[in-house]
Amino acid sequence: MPGRALWHEEALTVTGTGEHQHVDTVVVGASQSGLAAGYHLMRRGRPFVLLDTYNRVGDAWRERWDSLRLFTSARYDGLPGMPFPAPRESYPTKDEVADYLEAYAERFRLPVRTGSRVDRLSRRGHMFEIVTGATTFSAENVVVATGAYRIPRVPDISDRLDTSILQLHSSAYRTPSQLRAGGVLVVGAGNSGAEIALEASRDHSTWLSGRDTGQEPTSAGSLADRLLMPVMWLVATRVLRVTNPIGRAVRSHFLEPPRGIPLGRVRRTDLRAAGIVRVPRTVGVQDGLPTLEDGQTLTVSNVVWCTGFRMDLSWIDLPVAGEYGHPVHERGIVSSQPGLYFLGLPFLYSLSSALLGGVGRDAAHIVDHISKRVADTHDRYGVTAGSKPPWPDRPGARERQLPHQEHEERTARWR
Ligand SMILES: Cc1cc2nc3c(=O)[nH]c(=O)nc-3n(C[C@H](O)[C@H](O)[C@H](O)COP(=O)(O)OP(=O)(O)OC[C@H]3O[C@@H](n4cnc5c(N)ncnc54)[C@H](O)[C@@H]3O)c2cc1C
Repeated sequence: MPGRALWHEEALTVTGTGEHQHVDTVVVGASQSGLAAGYHLMRRGRPFVLLDTYNRVGDAWRERWDSLRLFTSARYDGLPGMPFPAPRESYPTKDEVADYLEAYAERFRLPVRTGSRVDRLSRRGHMFEIVTGATTFSAENVVVATGAYRIPRVPDISDRLDTSILQLHSSAYRTPSQLRAGGVLVVGAGNSGAEIALEASRDHSTWLSGRDTGQEPTSAGSLADRLLMPVMWLVATRVLRVTNPIGRAVRSHFLEPPRGIPLGRVRRTDLRAAGIVRVPRTVGVQDGLPTLEDGQTLTVSNVVWCTGFRMDLSWIDLPVAGEYGHPVHERGIVSSQPGLYFLGLPFLYSLSSALLGGVGRDAAHIVDHISKRVADTHDRYGVTAGSKPPWPDRPGARERQLPHQEHEERTARWR
């Protein structure tokens, strides 16, 4: 139901009703990143609310293609406080991830308002104004956790393709049954391109166009992968961080400009064995058909654009955008807009920042910053009307109270 709150204690955190409401912190987006922020805000005793466009927590995953499975095993897919409820070496499906996120929100009784798309974020004095439908929130802090994969990136040449060719972006692709009879050109040879091409090749002649993004040393699910994963995870979380030159070089390689990451599950040999033809980049259109960098024209009935996404910052009425459409921040903290934070972006801090198992550390860092900021503001000005938390506002006080014990007991059941 649109606008429904999942958490009945929300009344404790949000003051005012109807059109104007106030809360200490608004988290925009209640998928994995927003929920991780919510978990830490709850443990810190900070009043907050999570707002999300979808009517159901987890829908960002439910909407991805049917056969999608994680390339990270369940042992690395847990958010803070609740391991992923599956055998450690298994690879959850996208629907299992969605259900896990929903269960997470319910388990910690996070105050999620679903069906609440934020249309505009602006600043008024030292407060932010967050407009969602008929309601305007004011808040001292805003965490933007809306994901890096919001707006499909499709090249302009798509407009010139013949109308008889079915065109889909990977975000709209669900199953091969959507495709028309005839050949399929998959544009973009990263993970989604390789997985969709493999699926399409069962019933269609398939071409996979684009730069080879490389492949990880092991394939998700293999014995070698299980043995090597702990080392790879250590590298993704501890070594490849923006605080060191190697981490910064890898970040800039993948994000400036954005490019596909090495294949995680599908191998080059799988593509060859399936008869998929690897071709150069798709650069133009001739007589309504796609043409490639080497001058070839392909006669196909379908084009699947696996050409990535860009962030949607259009609803943020503040000068935060930097190069390549990424917001300017330092480990998620936007110093030019005190109180504004981003979470869940690729390489926000480390290679694992946009992964289920990596976002928790970034969320904790941001929430530490929020707690400190609010404490400083309170020291300077006294408690702002309407934003006083409903429990003792000492650092760590909330952690020592019931929610922490409750949390530990609940978590133990999931271990
Ligand atoms: C194909 C694919 C495979 C992946 N595989 C893995 C994997 O194997 N392992 C792994 O750990 N990670 C994987 N990831 C990466 C990562 O886990 C996901 O991208 C993840 O969904 C990012 O989470 P998020 O919460 O930051 O953003 P999202 O999941 O995109 O959620 C953003 C939320 O914000 C909401 N929102 C957006 N705009 C607004 C607004 N204006 N107002 C209110 N709400 C808004 C949306 O409704 C949505 O619920 C994969 C990603 C993709 C695309």
